[in-house]
Amino acid sequence: MSDLGSETITRRKSVGVMVGDVQVGGDAPIVVQSMTNTDTADIDKTVGQVAELWRAGSEIVRITVDRDEAAAAVPHIRDRLMAMNINVPLVGDFHYIGHKLLADHPACAEALAKYRINPGNVGFKAKRDTQFSQMIEIANQNDKPVRIGVNWGSLDQELLTKLMDENAERETPWSAARVQREAIIQSALMSAARAEELGMGRNKILLSTKVSNVQHLIDVYTDLAQRCDYGLHLGLTEAGMGAKGIVASSAALGILLQRGIGDTIRISLTPEPGGDRTLEVQVAQQLLQTMGFRQFLPVVTACPGCGRTTSTVFQELAKDIQDHLNDSMPKWREQYPGVEGLNVAVMGCIVNGPGESKHADIGISLPGTGETPAAPVFIDGQKAKTLRGPNIANEFKVMVADYIEKRFGG
Ligand code: SF4
Repeated sequence: MSDLGSETITRRKSVGVMVGDVQVGGDAPIVVQSMTNTDTADIDKTVGQVAELWRAGSEIVRITVDRDEAAAAVPHIRDRLMAMNINVPLVGDFHYIGHKLLADHPACAEALAKYRINPGNVGFKAKRDTQFSQMIEIANQNDKPVRIGVNWGSLDQELLTKLMDENAERETPWSAARVQREAIIQSALMSAARAEELGMGRNKILLSTKVSNVQHLIDVYTDLAQRCDYGLHLGLTEAGMGAKGIVASSAALGILLQRGIGDTIRISLTPEPGGDRTLEVQVAQQLLQTMGFRQFLPVVTACPGCGRTTSTVFQELAKDIQDHLNDSMPKWREQYPGVEGLNVAVMGCIVNGPGESKHADIGISLPGTGETPAAPVFIDGQKAKTLRGPNIANEFKVMVADYIEKRFGG
């Protein structure tokens, strides 16, 4: 069942994998993860961004390990984070020369909590098996898990061609999309089977099969989920920027999560130039929270506003309260256990305001246009006070702080 006791979602059973101190799969809650976009060789910048992502709530952070300088930087990045009391598992993202980097940089192999291996990018033919095996052996020696991450953009072309040829022989050939899906799934499952042959435990293997098309992603993971019990990492690859990336990722992952599929998620958003990398973490958290899987932040229930809210007081207060809760959460999380379950309502007029405010832990119903300039505040369903005058916002914030102290303090 979902962590909040949904009656409609039964999560698929998967083998749990420890990534550092964070469990993915098994009976663990769905884990939020993210990836840096700094040059890993730039230790200062990478430490800074990993810390930002972690503070935003990323429970695992992946970093690119693409060359010697990056591999050499990894243990220093881990040490610097530990010195800042940030014990976030770091995942190394390897392509093409991962086997060599891990062999040449044992401190990197030790510092990482997991290796991401892309079977389409570990050499060709005989070399592929050698290089893949080498990475698995190093993972085994260091007792590290791996994610076998197949990506449509770098799918093993040899396997695809073989399956296309086999398909041509079928009496009723499959569609090209189905053959491609089969190639992605087989690439992941065959690589996992090979890892097991090399002595890797099932509790050390996670799989992902990312594509960039929403419908294909839903199909490929639905199929994969039925064919194995490995923990699954979900993500729509190359989701895009802004609203498009958020909607596409949420639509695809939301449907899979609703089917009980997925043990960890990453939202692959392209940031705006100079944009905030932590947006991908916020979206992942909001997706899990709005679907009722986990609670990360207090919820502000705010109505959309309409012709009855012609002043900006209502929008300003809703934003002010949301920002105040978000900014205070890093401190409150420690100080007030359970505060992430708080529900605050900020409503714009008498139509739905008192009703919605009564359902929240603490709610305010602001006066709409033409209404008496008074704002009743409801606490645990009872009218507690009516605020008036120019300081409504600040007075309400004080009441929220008092409520949190009384309910979650001590
Ligand atoms: S609660 Fe009032 S202000 Fe808000 S959307 Fe409904 S009618 Fe409009």
